Amino acid sequence: ITAAPEIPNASLTSGTATCDARVNSKFSQKDPKEGLLDLRILNESLRARVQAGVVGPKAWQQTTELTVESIVRITVSPKFRMNNDTGKGTPERESYDLDIQNIEVIALASESLPSISPNSQLEDRLNNRILDVRHNASGAVFKLHSGMCQLIVEFLCSKGFHWIHTPRIINATVAGDNEFFDLPYFNGDAWLAQSTQHHKQMALSMDMERVFEIGPVFRSEAKSRASSRHLTEFTVLDIAMTFQEDYREVVDTIESMLIFVLTNLQKREKFRQLLDAVRRDHPSAREFSIGLDERGKIPRVTFAEAKRILQQDLGIEANPNKNFTDEEEAALGRHFLATLHTDIFTIEQYPASMRQFNSKASADTPELSNTWDTIVRGREICSGSQRINSYPELCEAMRAGVCGPAMDPEDEKWQPYLSAFKSGMPQHGGCGLGVNRLLQGFLGLKDVREVTLFPRDVNRLAP
Ligand code: ATP
Ligand code: MG
Ligand code: MG
Ligand code: MG
Repeated sequence: ITAAPEIPNASLTSGTATCDARVNSKFSQKDPKEGLLDLRILNESLRARVQAGVVGPKAWQQTTELTVESIVRITVSPKFRMNNDTGKGTPERESYDLDIQNIEVIALASESLPSISPNSQLEDRLNNRILDVRHNASGAVFKLHSGMCQLIVEFLCSKGFHWIHTPRIINATVAGDNEFFDLPYFNGDAWLAQSTQHHKQMALSMDMERVFEIGPVFRSEAKSRASSRHLTEFTVLDIAMTFQEDYREVVDTIESMLIFVLTNLQKREKFRQLLDAVRRDHPSAREFSIGLDERGKIPRVTFAEAKRILQQDLGIEANPNKNFTDEEEAALGRHFLATLHTDIFTIEQYPASMRQFNSKASADTPELSNTWDTIVRGREICSGSQRINSYPELCEAMRAGVCGPAMDPEDEKWQPYLSAFKSGMPQHGGCGLGVNRLLQGFLGLKDVREVTLFPRDVNRLAP
């Protein structure tokens, strides 16, 4: 909708303005010559008076036949807004905001559109995504998605990161990984990128120093049939950067970004208004809470400490030799909210066996790795690690197969990746952060599909 921005706030002004508006409900005719039309302009609902004598017979006829969701172009002279007492005398109050001088039908909507509200079943909302997102709260979610990406870019660019774009069609997959979609590709095999990790590392070997990208990755997740956190295509913020002393420089930078993004989404006026719109339709969604620790940073615990909290403080039978289950992550989320008043925290130093082959082993305890996950409202949103940068060490890790089947560094398919290490790779780390998951957790919505414009899962390839 292109609308004159002054219209929604029009009060007692003279003159006319032209803008496009959606029809909110059928024309209600008061008498043969006059009626009221409920319109939506820039998400604001307004009531307009239409008079046959003013708009002329053809436009009057078309107005009486207007269907809900149609688009009309109107020329209006603003009356006064309901509830808007200017104090300048009391003009006779009428129950409309605008007086229509001219009306033209731009697009007539079908008569029988489904009725979709925020309370409709998620499946119905997704099947009718256009009508759903047109609705205020769903629309606000995707405007916040845009705002979140803008804030991410704003922060990273201010810290010297370069925005890159790496390929989604790739030539090699990690052995044993069954989450890849393969792709018939001319004369050979290709796969859809399941993460961008190898290419963003290669960019660091090009002396880019700090890089990021935001884009889709694809995973053949059978569990997306029933999971509220897994899709088969989703948007990831990928970050990679070099560091000097300690991989925690990388963790600190990414956490600072998260604090910047999440606080500004709550603080800046335009985002605040969108958040309020989401809250109106989802009243049970609690405000997001960022509790910082005594360092002024996002609270951080080790994998071992988190398992200990689960077992000893929360009485949960958590297996220390397995990664966290969804329930364990959720329990930790509740624990840190209750104790540190935070919906966000980081777990670091995972056992090397649970992470990827190229994760750097911890200096003191080689069974552990310099890796971390960030948890938002009890759900993983980000995984990161220091990656091995030495070529011999990386080859050794590939052969050892600590966290999966062994890989052969001589294999031709790995040569493009390994050339980045043969030619000297700086010390570095990085992460993949699920943008959909971050927004879902921030808003306190239940399913990652709610914050994905056109979600893809085992059962859904459309709209
Ligand atoms: P999970 O444990 O939830 O399966 P993961 O550890 O397999 O996630 P990573 O490989 O670490 O995921 O990917 C980086 C980030 O991408 C995750 O932290 C998460 O935010 C997001 N992500 C991963 N898989 C999915 C998915 N199937 N749908 C939506 N987001 C995902
Ligand atoms: Mg997974
Ligand atoms: Mg995980
Ligand atoms: Mg992960």
